[in-house]
Amino acid sequence: MTTNTTDLAREALERSLEVRDEHDYDYRSPLCVYELCDKARVSVRFVDDVSMEGVYAALSKPSIILSSLRPLTRRAFTCAHEFGHHVFGHGSTIDELKDEAEREVFNPEEFLVEAFAGYLLMPAQAVKRAFSSRQLRMDDATPEDIYAVASSFGVGYETLIGHLAYGLRYIQRDRAETLRKTKLPKIRERILGERTQEHLVIADRHHAIGTLDAEVGNLVLLPEGAETESDRIEPVKDLVAGRVFRAVRPGLARVEAEGFGVIVRVSRMQYAGLARYRHLEETDGE
Ligand SMILES: [Zn+2]
Repeated sequence: MTTNTTDLAREALERSLEVRDEHDYDYRSPLCVYELCDKARVSVRFVDDVSMEGVYAALSKPSIILSSLRPLTRRAFTCAHEFGHHVFGHGSTIDELKDEAEREVFNPEEFLVEAFAGYLLMPAQAVKRAFSSRQLRMDDATPEDIYAVASSFGVGYETLIGHLAYGLRYIQRDRAETLRKTKLPKIRERILGERTQEHLVIADRHHAIGTLDAEVGNLVLLPEGAETESDRIEPVKDLVAGRVFRAVRPGLARVEAEGFGVIVRVSRMQYAGLARYRHLEETDGE
């Protein structure tokens, strides 16, 4: 196996496109990694374990275990990372929470699957389309714009920036450093017009897939005039940028606005259990 990072990145990119092909995903849209794992017959389970990011168990029925205590976007990326260990046949792997120093020790398998996860979730075509459809340029989009694009891929703000700078090389490193200086509470405050501790997920008019994942307590920014008949999410306030809802109970909320439709899938905060059941509605008495 090569340890040259350019070769590893190319291998990761090629395999990510093959995997999309094999499971009938195009190269220009975000995907739900849990749905992909389901199609690939890899089970995904969340557990409330603070010590690790994720585990890949290469059993006769392969499975991925993720910490439910990590942020929603982090979990999705780690799932793609663990799925990388599966598709590259690395065998069972435990990814513990690492500090900076430990991360800097170069490990070719870890580099490979980390690059794979980036290309799988954020293919070049899909990233270009996400910016152009919003009439944004990568060189001067604001942190709020970048946050909205990251949300459209279900990944974190810094994850998208890292992928733009190091995976796709669409932006310069100093541009990435500048963007990283704006922290999430400030970005949320600028978008919402007030400070909040809650996580914010966004589906704007250019949201390219039919679903959006949220957890109970999260704020959900949807286009202006968005309406739902569901009681899983409740409207909070109207902004120029759209209508803010709060996710209040697990289940599916179909939302519509003029020329727009999305299903918001709400799961319990830090839900533990199988990923495929994460947004099952809870019945009374549970
Ligand atoms: Zn790993």
